[in-house]
Amino acid sequence: MIGLVRDFRGQRYEVVEKSERTRRDGTLAIILHWESMCADCGEPFRLTTPAASSKFEPNRRCQKHKRPGQRVKS
Ligand SMILES: [Zn+2]
Repeated sequence: MIGLVRDFRGQRYEVVEKSERTRRDGTLAIILHWESMCADCGEPFRLTTPAASSKFEPNRRCQKHKRPGQRVKS
């Protein structure tokens, strides 16, 4: 799955790492680490999503420019 590229609203996300996490019920969850460029400053940043999740609504900004509830103006 590493190297997988996805587009979300014109922004590019690439899987750079994969890790496993044990859930509370003992089952294993695969975590994908995505890398993208901040919509504000263009700096690369990372985020994680569960591989099992069909929903893909990642952050579009780095930690510094993250403002919850605010959408990127296009
Ligand atoms: Zn930024």
